[in-house]
Amino acid sequence: MITTISGERGQLTALRGAWLFDGTGPALIPDPVVVIEGSVIRDVCSGGRVPETPDSGTVIDLPGATLLPGLVDTHVHLAFDASVDPVGNLARRRDYEVVAAMVEAGRAALRGGITTIRDLGDHCYLSLGLRGRADLPTVVAAGPPITTPGGHCHYLGGAAAPTCAGIRAAVREHVYRGVDVVKIMASGGNLTPGSRQDLAQFPPEVLRAAVDEAHRLGLPVTAHAHAVAAIADAVAAGVDGLEHVSFWTEEGVDAPADLIRLIAARQIAVGATLGMVPVPGMAPPPAVAMRMPAMIANMRRLCESGTLMVAGTDAGIAPVKPHDVVRHAPPTLRQLGFSPAEALRAITSVAAGVCGLGHRKGRIAPGFDADILAVDGDPVADPEALQRIRAIYARGTPVTKEDGQGSLGAAASCRSSPVALALVSCGWRFRGDAECTEARGQVLDPLSRCPVICGSGGRRPSRLQPNQVTAAINDGMQIPR
Ligand SMILES: [Zn+2]
Repeated sequence: MITTISGERGQLTALRGAWLFDGTGPALIPDPVVVIEGSVIRDVCSGGRVPETPDSGTVIDLPGATLLPGLVDTHVHLAFDASVDPVGNLARRRDYEVVAAMVEAGRAALRGGITTIRDLGDHCYLSLGLRGRADLPTVVAAGPPITTPGGHCHYLGGAAAPTCAGIRAAVREHVYRGVDVVKIMASGGNLTPGSRQDLAQFPPEVLRAAVDEAHRLGLPVTAHAHAVAAIADAVAAGVDGLEHVSFWTEEGVDAPADLIRLIAARQIAVGATLGMVPVPGMAPPPAVAMRMPAMIANMRRLCESGTLMVAGTDAGIAPVKPHDVVRHAPPTLRQLGFSPAEALRAITSVAAGVCGLGHRKGRIAPGFDADILAVDGDPVADPEALQRIRAIYARGTPVTKEDGQGSLGAAASCRSSPVALALVSCGWRFRGDAECTEARGQVLDPLSRCPVICGSGGRRPSRLQPNQVTAAINDGMQIPR
């Protein structure tokens, strides 16, 4: 039931549910009222206490519903379309078609109650242009993952010379383009024929140089790591996160106890690749199926050792991994030993912290972003409740079924020139550039938002040509601070 209260302040919405999971607590809280002002949570009341604020605004009653934070997935690929051939489809698409598919993937996530995603591998930095859009989840972007020439996911555009100098340059380029996190492929992977999941891709000192360069420039690093050696090297290099952590060997799986202890002791965030939607006729590849029992057992050992673990689903890489798959992760997390509330925290507040957004995402508390999910029933006792969505708010705006229409914005009409894509993808448009048809006629301040040139302030050349941007990147231009 929706009641509109007329008043002078306006802009306030009060959500009234039966229960609240606030993202951090051990249990549900009865009779909550969450007051949203604009894009932020202004007040949270419970147990019949009446908020002071909504003397004006809208009260939305959701009887029988539990309010919880919008979900957070720390590992997605918007550029992969969750088909049986995501890599082939990506290769067949022109860049504007890739952007269109990424937008649709983001909207699918949002319609599934996922209000924050971390894209850990896009194509040519295209995910950076999707940040800040009202019709998508909040996007944390890694750009193309850094890999070896011909290595895992090299086709995404992030191959670097496997030397200390080469990888430092690659990290700098990512920083200049404006990524939020550096993703590095420490081992091979399943999506790339010819790459070896059981082997490290970079020498240890090169991995160390990558982490050192990223940390020096203020960015965290997460490493895709299947091979035991890749996991050990990444831990030794000082990464902030590890993805997959399958302890893959040529013959099977081998997780050394001291390595598990080290991952837990350093509180390295492990993205466990959990969450799957069963699809009839689809089975994991034999090499994965054969190793699965041991991989699950090792994940349980990591949990028992106190590892910081999140679902990190890898959404987009297969039909069993649609872009809203993280709401299917809690049952698997519980199999690993998570309590029901811990499983929900792992896809809300803990995941937000892993994305670097723990100060404003993943909790229902005053001052946090109004990313709110309402589901039928009790998602702590019954994980299936996450499939019964009643309402979704993203930064205070209700998400409707119709979301998914609308224009794609300037990036959709831009052909691929690497520099053009990079600039368009960070919101910067060429002044009069012929490649960007839609930008013509509505040219913005060309330096207004480009992190390549502007960073968060500092040097602002009056006019920079694309070749100068390339030159600046190649020269190792200092980031303005
Ligand atoms: Zn991935």
